[in-house]
Amino acid sequence: MGICVSKEKPVKSNANGHRAGNGVHHNQTPIQYTMSPGYAAQLPVIPPASPKRVIQKANTILGKPYEDINSHYSLGKELGRGQFGVTHLCTDIATGQQYACKSISKRKLVTKSDKEDIRREIQIMQHLSGQSNIVEFKGAYEDKQSVHLVMELCAGGELFDRIIAKGHYSERAAASICRSIVKVVQICHFMGVMHRDLKPENFLLSDKSEKALLKATDFGLSVFIEEGKVYKDLVGSAYYVAPEVLRHRYGKEADIWSAGVMLYILLSGVPPFWAETDKGIFDAIVRGHIDFDSKPWPSISNSAKDLVCRMLTQDPKERITAAEVLDHPWMREGGDASDKPIDSAVLSRMKQFRAMNKLKKLALKVIAENLSTEEIQGLKAMFTNMDTDNSGTITYEELKTGLARLGSKLTETEVKQLMEAADVDGNGTIDYIEFITATMHRHRLEREENLYKAFQYFDKDNSGFITRDELETAMKEYGMGDPATIKEIISEVDSDNDGRINYEEFCTMMRTGTQRPDRLF
Ligand code: ADP
Ligand code: MG
Repeated sequence: MGICVSKEKPVKSNANGHRAGNGVHHNQTPIQYTMSPGYAAQLPVIPPASPKRVIQKANTILGKPYEDINSHYSLGKELGRGQFGVTHLCTDIATGQQYACKSISKRKLVTKSDKEDIRREIQIMQHLSGQSNIVEFKGAYEDKQSVHLVMELCAGGELFDRIIAKGHYSERAAASICRSIVKVVQICHFMGVMHRDLKPENFLLSDKSEKALLKATDFGLSVFIEEGKVYKDLVGSAYYVAPEVLRHRYGKEADIWSAGVMLYILLSGVPPFWAETDKGIFDAIVRGHIDFDSKPWPSISNSAKDLVCRMLTQDPKERITAAEVLDHPWMREGGDASDKPIDSAVLSRMKQFRAMNKLKKLALKVIAENLSTEEIQGLKAMFTNMDTDNSGTITYEELKTGLARLGSKLTETEVKQLMEAADVDGNGTIDYIEFITATMHRHRLEREENLYKAFQYFDKDNSGFITRDELETAMKEYGMGDPATIKEIISEVDSDNDGRINYEEFCTMMRTGTQRPDRLF
């Protein structure tokens, strides 16, 4: 059967939505970007006299000095390109490990909001890293011409090309792919992120085998979900865009619609809402008639059609949720039905936190308290998701069900251990700051100003050393300063044996043992 799916360019416009009305996005050029000179004022303030290391303020997008990516990686063949970036194979010179590098030309980054978008894309990738169905983020570099995002290599190419090669999938295979897609949606929503550009071009395969894992990429249009906020921007790609997005009033349910469009394509090889022009496509979406009469639909099970209908329900409030999709009979029957627990980044971060010494935990808490609201948006949404009774604290039960909703299968003892680890002040529940402390991404530690702020917190008299007394005072403030622990910490961290902790010793301690345990490479 004929395939009439073509590649989709994403559209992005402001709330007035004239692009949708004009129906021009399909052929339109990408948003134009230019440099905005006023940007420097917004850079994070880095302490000028941080011991040993002095970081130059730079008028850069990433807020750190230019770095030559070629000194770390050798760039190879082109892997693909989208509307905003070109992706190349790249090899870590030091280890020989292969990655993918998406380069975005700074010529395309015109306005302040374009620059914010790229910073947000990086933040969201970092926030979501560590999940098996999401491309793992490695690092970001910036030079005069471009911003480069280095990430896990998905050597199997785009899901889009597989669909084209195959025509359409068996119900079983479609269910299995749909499950991976919806798991990604579930994790994103749970972690407070709305993807906004779900389509087969943005799902990659980990390798060329039949068993390859499906991985979501391209968080370029994604946003952190703000509770209660009504989103208005028209973003997405024509075939996949939800009707409420076209009406400029939407929330995270729009991602489910896009996943539903993907499911329809997987089963039939053609998009559900199709026309020659974007305007025609949008009209069909708003009309919402789903064609189950054409081939191959008459031979597809009613259960599959039922799920398609539920995902492509016009009213977002009536639409099925990610968790409900995963629980739908067709999802459970189809595919390999393997109920492998989702490996949760949250869980691994909590486990890592558990293994830290108390000084480190406390230092992380100081860092957590100093993070900007922007930096903790995703974690904040996750906290709200877990704190089901809105009490401002997470209880043992809430943690248990929260982690279970993320797909983690933990024993009572394991949950208890995590609870005790995160509960820094030992009052039996996890408060907001404790949650951020235990789950924030460890890359926060690599940021010099964060480490320095934490060091300063302990070094009350600004002597450049954390003394035994200072440590005791700080730890007592948090109800954890028994003399034996303090002694233990000093002897562990004080590598030059002078009885106190200098900045370098502090940084070494903070940076050791923080590699992600669930790295893919
Ligand atoms: P854009 O924002 O421009 O759409 P994407 O992040 O979608 O950028 O990347 C563009 C294309 O590059 C993808 O559609 C894919 O073909 C390829 N690509 C992106 N990331 C990877 C990766 N990690 N491994 C392999 N190919 C990739
Ligand atoms: Mg893309």
